[in-house]
Amino acid sequence: MHVVLLSTFRLILSTLLVGVSPSSVLASEPGEINVYSYRKPQLIDPMFAVFTEQTSIRVNSVFAKKGMLERLKSEGRNTPADLVFTVDIGRLSDIKDAGLTQAVSAAAVQNNIPAHYRDSEGHWFGLTTRARIIVASKDRVGPGEILSYEDLADPKWKGRICTRSGKHPYMVALIASMIAHHGEAAAKAWLAGVKNNLARKPQGNDRAQVKAIKEGVCDLAVINHYYMAKMLKDPEQVPWAESVNVIFPNQDGRGTHMNVSGMALTRHAPNKNNALKLMAFLASDQGQQMYVQENGEYPVKAGIPWNDLQKSWGPFKEDALNLTDVAQNRAVAIRLADEVRYNN
Ligand code: FE
Repeated sequence: MHVVLLSTFRLILSTLLVGVSPSSVLASEPGEINVYSYRKPQLIDPMFAVFTEQTSIRVNSVFAKKGMLERLKSEGRNTPADLVFTVDIGRLSDIKDAGLTQAVSAAAVQNNIPAHYRDSEGHWFGLTTRARIIVASKDRVGPGEILSYEDLADPKWKGRICTRSGKHPYMVALIASMIAHHGEAAAKAWLAGVKNNLARKPQGNDRAQVKAIKEGVCDLAVINHYYMAKMLKDPEQVPWAESVNVIFPNQDGRGTHMNVSGMALTRHAPNKNNALKLMAFLASDQGQQMYVQENGEYPVKAGIPWNDLQKSWGPFKEDALNLTDVAQNRAVAIRLADEVRYNN
């Protein structure tokens, strides 16, 4: 059994994985945990290291940019993977919908994570949240000039907004939340309005939009909050971050749109008991604190102290929309992006 697992895991390592450094290629042994991760190693390895220190359970993590769902499918019950880590509600729900996960009812996991940030049947769990904020040029947008996602469709912003592709999971989730709150027709009108206000064809990642504000290409952008922290750690990008004010949208109403990074236990996890221990650790105070301090994401667990940047922004109201509702509207969101020719 051990040999089979070992060789299977090595096979995977040799065929699946992009960007795996030799030091992260570890053989699987009984009592270990195998992780497939869409999250970059530097984002989760520090947590795994502390877990291993405390439990002596080794975590073999393998990073892939894509193809994990297909791989899990083709491996079926022979998969070496116990856990999958990824960002975005869409990817988490896709893995569940493909029948590749199993339910976890452990109180140590369930009780630490609010209901709207986990699957109602226990098939996936958010571990961190990310606010989709608006950033506005300090020079060209006055305080209080923009307060909500809905405002982005106001013609006063014509030619002044930058975003990444309307089909990127972060944008799809935001559009899906608009559908959930306003219905399809109103969400489509909104998206067409935002598209009309774009300064340029959607391109680049979230940070590229902030750079564009710094360069005067546009005045507003929509980004995930933790990119502010990342830019402030990169000397080249500090001026980009410092050129904008951070706005948590919809504070007078439903609150700011949130997405998650999360985890799921695979349906055929060979090291299930150990995997459950790791899940509990990541949802614990210590695991949650590490996510906040190391990655700049918000904790899902209540009562975890924020990092300094988060404290400087202060408390804000989160949209309490259940992420399952966001996931259910994703297909329509992608269609709307096509219909309004958002990326054209
Ligand atoms: Fe991101």
